[in-house]
Amino acid sequence: MRKEVLSTILPFLKEKYGNPSSLHSHGLQAREAIENARKKIAEILSCKAEEIIFTSGGTESINLAIKGVALANKEKGNHIITSKVEHPAVLDTCKYLEAHGCKVTYLPVDNYGTINLRDLESAITDKTILISIIYANNEIGTIQPIKEIGKIAKAHGILFHTDACQAAGSLNLNIQSLGVDLMTLNGSKVYGPKGSGILYKKHSIKLVPLIHGGGQEFGLRSGTENVPAIVGFAKALELAQSEKDREVSRLTKLRDFLISQLLKIPNTHLNGHPTDRLPNNVNVRFDNIEGEGILLHLNERGIFVSTGSACASKSLEPSHVLLALGISHEKAHGSIRFSLGKYTKMSDIKYLLRVLPPIITKLRSLSPLNEKC
Ligand SMILES: *Cc1c(COP(=O)(O)O)cnc(C)c1O
Repeated sequence: MRKEVLSTILPFLKEKYGNPSSLHSHGLQAREAIENARKKIAEILSCKAEEIIFTSGGTESINLAIKGVALANKEKGNHIITSKVEHPAVLDTCKYLEAHGCKVTYLPVDNYGTINLRDLESAITDKTILISIIYANNEIGTIQPIKEIGKIAKAHGILFHTDACQAAGSLNLNIQSLGVDLMTLNGSKVYGPKGSGILYKKHSIKLVPLIHGGGQEFGLRSGTENVPAIVGFAKALELAQSEKDREVSRLTKLRDFLISQLLKIPNTHLNGHPTDRLPNNVNVRFDNIEGEGILLHLNERGIFVSTGSACASKSLEPSHVLLALGISHEKAHGSIRFSLGKYTKMSDIKYLLRVLPPIITKLRSLSPLNEKC
């Protein structure tokens, strides 16, 4: 968490402890903080304050958007369109709804991870109530054509939700120009508190809440508001917004330099789109090595990366996102995601580029690839 966010939050963990539903001055102080946060976020997204619902993060917002629309539109239809490269919060919510009478189309993607707009058009039926497509992919960074998807949804009178958790630091969040009806954002991806997030919901849309009780958040999310998380999220988003243009151009240069240098290592490939990708995402595939091996060696040198596969979590299945790109199981296992951030400098990239090639050479010279992970 960045220090400006921490210092914004601290008073609300200490002396400003009021329950925002209380009518005494401590309560009113907390209420005012929440409503100011809501206004600030609404300004950034170019929407109305009443269209912002505070939640416990990306996962909850996604659940509220998808289940909330499905439950509120039972008479209209039961068909949802999403993609094969969504975050598990979307995929597992859709799987759950399939077990409860919904039909879901999982759109395929091309080799870069982009959906095809013609596939989207032809998946639409008279029962389609919702399209949910990730704005930018958390594993491979590929950015989807959100405005075009929004136009198609609108032309067919279908609601459009986008999971924008990865977008806040670098992409356009203007609701009016994006043409989305629902949008999920979270705080932990912009140096805000974990367990913070919002769902933007166009005022005219009806949702059935997931959490019932005291009626907070316009009746859509009951329970005493998490005031520190709310003010922290607003601060984090505000700072991310004000630094966005500068950060995008700085990180894009670092990203492209890193990609170009990594691809000089023999038998190395870029996962995801070469240009329509998040400025902070580099996902690379090294043939004939296990990603976990690279991860552990880099960890020892103070470099913290992610593998594209879920091997570490007991499952032998590689990432569903990499498989959707048409990459084989075997090759997907050799993928590594490097995430750049606010604190990443060129000297860090150069350090990585010094440390990594010998690790790759060593791992390739060791035991042959164990395909079973
Ligand atoms: C992190 C993330 C989520 C989940 O958000 P939480 O705040 O961890 O619940 C969902 N979608 C995407 C694209 C993400 O990057």
